[in-house]
Amino acid sequence: MIFPSMPRHTKIISTLGPASSSRDTIADLIEAGTDVVRLNFSHGEHEDHRRVVALVREEAEKQDRQVTILQDLQGPRIRVSPVQGGTTLLSEGTQVTISASTSPDDVSSESHIYISYKALAQDVAPGGQILIDDGRLSLTVLSIKGDDVYAHVDVGGVLKSRKGVNLPRVRTSGPALTEKDLADLEVAIDLNIDWIALSFVRNETDVVHLRKHLKAAGHRAGVIAKIEKPEAFDAIDNILAVSDGIMVARGDLGIEMPMSSIPHAQKTIIHKCLLAGKPVITATQMLESMIEDHVPTRAEASDVANAVLDGTDAVMLSGETAVGHHPPRVVEAMARIIKAAEEHWYALPEKGRGLPEELSDVEDSRDITDAVSLTACELATHVGARALVCLTASGATARALAKHRPRMPVYAFTDSPNVIGQAGILWGTKAFQIPFQSDTDAGVRLVQQTLVSKGYIRSGDTIVICAGMPLPRKGRTNLVHVSYVD
Ligand code: PGA
Repeated sequence: MIFPSMPRHTKIISTLGPASSSRDTIADLIEAGTDVVRLNFSHGEHEDHRRVVALVREEAEKQDRQVTILQDLQGPRIRVSPVQGGTTLLSEGTQVTISASTSPDDVSSESHIYISYKALAQDVAPGGQILIDDGRLSLTVLSIKGDDVYAHVDVGGVLKSRKGVNLPRVRTSGPALTEKDLADLEVAIDLNIDWIALSFVRNETDVVHLRKHLKAAGHRAGVIAKIEKPEAFDAIDNILAVSDGIMVARGDLGIEMPMSSIPHAQKTIIHKCLLAGKPVITATQMLESMIEDHVPTRAEASDVANAVLDGTDAVMLSGETAVGHHPPRVVEAMARIIKAAEEHWYALPEKGRGLPEELSDVEDSRDITDAVSLTACELATHVGARALVCLTASGATARALAKHRPRMPVYAFTDSPNVIGQAGILWGTKAFQIPFQSDTDAGVRLVQQTLVSKGYIRSGDTIVICAGMPLPRKGRTNLVHVSYVD
């Protein structure tokens, strides 16, 4: 058996779309290193998503790989109603009327644009900006009369049907989950999807709303809040407290906030997630030029590497794999950049790696799992362990280990299929399903056998195992065991 080298820790999320929905491409994406697939429910029919989930599961099993599935809900995204003839030209310097669409017959034209936001006339104010199609078209509100908003076209161009609309600095009203989201959630619940990401989160109440909905349906998916509005960034502490993970959704955030604030927002959010021990995804335009090209730009390579150095758990590909010309090639490129960045990072002295100092500050903590996990990471470094292992019922110990970004991989053993799926997004973590263990020695033996049989450890290695005694009790990780592999 060829012993595997140190695995990549930062996870890769590939968005599936028209360019990557065939069985062969899905198989290639998994082989190239995709850890998580993202289904973007802003596009596609339910039947297509169902078919793709089945293909991902089949191909992952063939390759003996765990592939996590993430549903991305469209949320309250505002869109332009269909445009007469599909497209029209908005001329710079002209004045247009913008109204909330009230009927499917409302058709947008170069002088009257309908959008899917009911409270438009109440929520905007003169001087406010209205951005269309990722900010390509820019308008300023002049006045409001009744339900109509009159606006000046500052930057014109082609207006296309159903393009996204952003209202920067407007605190949008309306429910967090639209009727479409509720119908899409039914599919996620039915397919037992691992993670659900909610778009355009404004505050913690939006996330709590989704959580309540999932709980009522008896579904245990993890919930990711996409931070793409300035008010969500301002409320990040409260949002993080009620979410299982966060996505730095740089696409829309870069429209709603000055683009120059994005690097700071990314670093701040990642830092907070690291401290909270909750996974964070860095998303959008990471290798954008590879939608067309065979190689990324130098700036893109640096962007992926910098997200890794910031401490992100996962990096995400959107258009690159959904509609790009070479989906598997993009994943390979991303994997290479991540590996090189991680090697560089581990070559630095521990103090120079830029992890928040408070991470190893457990003096005031009464959280036993946290303290034991930190000790396990330090011990694993001292004894040169090949791997860190935990027996975990809820996945909390895996998160507590991963947040210290140990050099060795984290192998989480659990009897919960939900924990397995959710661990796929977590930095450096692989999860395995085993039956419930009530005896420590038997648990340790099973862990060793499984890891040896899969080639992750071999005779002569040392591994460090964390568990709860008696095994495995939720919230009771109180044991660190150094185990020699015979
Ligand atoms: P989207 O979210 O792909 O749904 O737009 C990501 C982002 O805005 O960055």
